[in-house]
Amino acid sequence: MTFSIHGIGVSDKVAIGRAHLLSHVSLEAQHYLVTGDQIIDELRRFADALQSVQDEFTHLQANLDEDAPVEMSAMLAVHSMIVRDELIAQATLDLITEKRYNAEWALSEQVNQLIAQFDAFEDEYLRERKHDVMQVGTRIMRALRENNQLVCELPQAFDSEMILVAHDIAPADMLQFKGRSLAGFITDTGGPNSHTAIVARGLGLPAVVSTGQARSIIRSNEWVIVDGVNGVVLVNPDELILSHYRQVQQAQIEAEQRLAELIGRDARTLDGTPIKLMANIESPNDIARLHTIGADGVGLFRSEYLFMNRKDSPDESEQFNFYKAAVVAMNGKPVTIRTLDIGADKELSTDDYETSVNPALGLRAVRYCLANPNMFITQIRAILRASHYGSAKLLIPMVSGLEQLQQTLHLIEQARVQLREAGIPFDAQMPIGIMVEIPSAALILNALLPLIDFVSIGTNDLTQYTLAVDRGDSDVAHLYEELHPAVLQLIVFTIRATQLAQKSVSICGEMAGNAKLTRLFLAMGLDEFSMQQTQILPVKAQILETSIEQSQEALNRVLQSFDVASIKKHIRELNAQGMNEPITISATVH
Ligand code: PEP
Ligand code: MG
Repeated sequence: MTFSIHGIGVSDKVAIGRAHLLSHVSLEAQHYLVTGDQIIDELRRFADALQSVQDEFTHLQANLDEDAPVEMSAMLAVHSMIVRDELIAQATLDLITEKRYNAEWALSEQVNQLIAQFDAFEDEYLRERKHDVMQVGTRIMRALRENNQLVCELPQAFDSEMILVAHDIAPADMLQFKGRSLAGFITDTGGPNSHTAIVARGLGLPAVVSTGQARSIIRSNEWVIVDGVNGVVLVNPDELILSHYRQVQQAQIEAEQRLAELIGRDARTLDGTPIKLMANIESPNDIARLHTIGADGVGLFRSEYLFMNRKDSPDESEQFNFYKAAVVAMNGKPVTIRTLDIGADKELSTDDYETSVNPALGLRAVRYCLANPNMFITQIRAILRASHYGSAKLLIPMVSGLEQLQQTLHLIEQARVQLREAGIPFDAQMPIGIMVEIPSAALILNALLPLIDFVSIGTNDLTQYTLAVDRGDSDVAHLYEELHPAVLQLIVFTIRATQLAQKSVSICGEMAGNAKLTRLFLAMGLDEFSMQQTQILPVKAQILETSIEQSQEALNRVLQSFDVASIKKHIRELNAQGMNEPITISATVH
């Protein structure tokens, strides 16, 4: 029987394919039930964790210092026994098999039971043994999590009909789908501008996020339609629905073919203003495609992806080669390398990395870098060195105040002095810019502008921080409104203030790639956009059909409106007015 699941579409495309369920595992000790076909994997995961703790004890025992207290060796022996004890090992395995608890749940259940039994002992010595059980339990739990750095396990093989269905996919995991044959994906969690969704959009994959329960409802191999335009998943569609969606897909293919004809044409408005269309990338490997579609450069290189999915940090030479590869591959076109924006949903896997209490408001991006100055200066040196090989720019994320910018510029200067003294070449004129993505930066922009060369507006975070809505939290996704008047006022102010100071300004958040907002931004005076490469041609199509002058009245109406419904209405009118109807795949005003 056909049924539908509703969520949020993150790409304006549809896919038809078969469901492939990704194992739902989490870094938190979450409680969930595993399905029959996951039990074997879950048992193995627990057995692996036991083995790695056992190996750890053996290693510690073998490497004990000669002068280590004898109690230490005795304690390790006891802990080794506890790991092997039936009451930990076998009982947890039984809970996984019989009750279908996930391994973390089964372990915590069993450890809690044992502790309760120890607590009941009269004998104080025996009662105190509960601490040993707790310590061993904690070690096994940690090993379980370490064996689980990936939120989801990759399929053994991919195919063009595969639709991945997961509870959640971390941004770092999404990267592993690059270059794979895949039809689309569905997740229970996430917001439209979470980094996972952004990477999916960059891959051109139809996707629906925030479905709440798709992972537990959809069965392996079922036929599903992912309607990324309307944010709907149709499970077991009947012939009528399938034939409708096949037509939609065909129309998309034709629209893409028409858009491909724009490759090679200058992006110029009807009134003759040239517009720069740049791309957002995560790695130098993304660049080949940029030449094919004719991007004017890289407006945002999210360098943090080099740091993710690994236990160590890349050293200066690895980073230098990574950035240099991008700069060289762009053949003189600019490459805007953003310094590490780690934190929130983009976490490091290094042992010393700690998640902030409130990740979106915590030690993220430039805050993290300033708290780790050696790491920061290493990255700055690597970027400066890469600047020698082409046209590089350095972009600082999440700037919120003047002192923070001054501290960062001080470190950049220090890096320059070090390189100069060592005789290492770099571009002394490399432009330095900031992301405006926190309202405080927009509000004091006039104090920041004299210190920098350019501004890039990060609308994803600007929306999040203006509205106090976590961009990755599906519970508040309905409140995440990029067209909120406060967000639009901050954007228009930033564009005008930066241009008045005769510095360049672009938008690199996801709004830049929404072709239905292109006219609005052109009317605001924006002449540089940076977006997922998949959006460059739809946006160019809009530019070619837009008169900036004729768009001014509608812009005024938008900026004088304070409710989102009126704003959307005025934007629709702007897009419909006089100028020819644009060719877009089906971008919507959300
Ligand atoms: C933004 O916040 O709009 C942005 C481009 O940066 P990121 O999405 O990487 O946070
Ligand atoms: Mg951001």
